Amino acid sequence: MSDPKNEVSFIMVKPDGVQRGLVGEIIKRFENRGFKLVGCKMMSPSKDLLETHYVDLKSKPFFPGLIKYMSGGPVVAMAWQGKNVVKTGRSMLGATNPLDSNPGTIRGDLCIDVGRNICHGSDSVESGKREVKLWFGDSTEDYSLCTENMIYE
Ligand code: ADP
Repeated sequence: MSDPKNEVSFIMVKPDGVQRGLVGEIIKRFENRGFKLVGCKMMSPSKDLLETHYVDLKSKPFFPGLIKYMSGGPVVAMAWQGKNVVKTGRSMLGATNPLDSNPGTIRGDLCIDVGRNICHGSDSVESGKREVKLWFGDSTEDYSLCTENMIYE
């Protein structure tokens, strides 16, 4: 069985999060929790990449607006690794609609509208793998954190 500490999630600071100066805040929460950053790049994603990333939402009425919003400026794409990082990452982000997000979550603390919800996080272990591959190919880092024995028992 693969090591549960190797689970990966694709976390992205969306264009509104970048413009609002929230990159550091979002990274800080994942670092403080104990997760390991294994990929990080600022980029302006192509329409093709965004449409592939959001392919499951293609039939939704908000899809064109979503692609326009996500094309509106650079994003910070990240791969985070650690035990249960997908599920924990989703609960750290909060609900898709920030108005339904609990205080203490990223969206619950930092934004209001569903179409400006500042961050993305993979919603299953499978989509974590798929999205990290889509955005990073094989170019994530493989290294040990020297604090690992302090984070995992
Ligand atoms: P999540 O990002 O939480 O995984 P979804 O995959 O359902 O949520 O949706 C992707 C993104 O599409 C959301 O983060 C949000 O930016 C946008 N979105 C979802 N639902 C709506 C909606 N009803 N109106 C506008 N934008 C939406």
